[in-house]
Amino acid sequence: MERILVSACLMGRKVRYDGAAKTSGDALLAVWREEGRLIPFCPEVEGGLPVPRPAAEIEGGAGGPAVLAGAARVLTAQGDDVTGAFLAGAQAALAVARSFDVKVAILKEGSPSCGSLTVYDGTFRGNRTPGHGVTTALLELHGIAVFGEERIADAAARLREIEAFPRPGAGSGDGSGAGQEVPRISPV
Ligand code: SF4
Repeated sequence: MERILVSACLMGRKVRYDGAAKTSGDALLAVWREEGRLIPFCPEVEGGLPVPRPAAEIEGGAGGPAVLAGAARVLTAQGDDVTGAFLAGAQAALAVARSFDVKVAILKEGSPSCGSLTVYDGTFRGNRTPGHGVTTALLELHGIAVFGEERIADAAARLREIEAFPRPGAGSGDGSGAGQEVPRISPV
């Protein structure tokens, strides 16, 4: 069975910067949850940031690839540099995804970690700009397809394709990580 990495806030976990959740009522997510496919994960919390925490944006709205390349930082509105925590969270997300052989992720749109179509533009004025969050950029760099919560039907289509043409030995990840350090996350 193919597992799916999901933003923990979409699963009702109160892990956002403001201490709230962004629970998705999507019917497909409910089915996948019933099947035990979903792996809830919050990169910012796993990267070491507290709840609540100051809102953060990628400077200049540059997007996750620029952060991964060291060409942009993630800053709070007060100017504190939280880039290290965002990078650590992205690496932890990749480790968990690999340990479960994840090929599809559903992550919260617009987030500086999880956005897959848009991120905020770095001005803290609520403006979005096209781009990827830091975790999304790292996952996609490693071949994991990321979809926002408005594109769950597209994620389902990708999953059907993957399950119709499985690679030998695919879909067998058990979360053990085969020796690498992996945050202890259980499917739900
Ligand atoms: S980092 Fe991702 S999972 Fe965590 S609160 Fe933000 S959008 Fe949700």
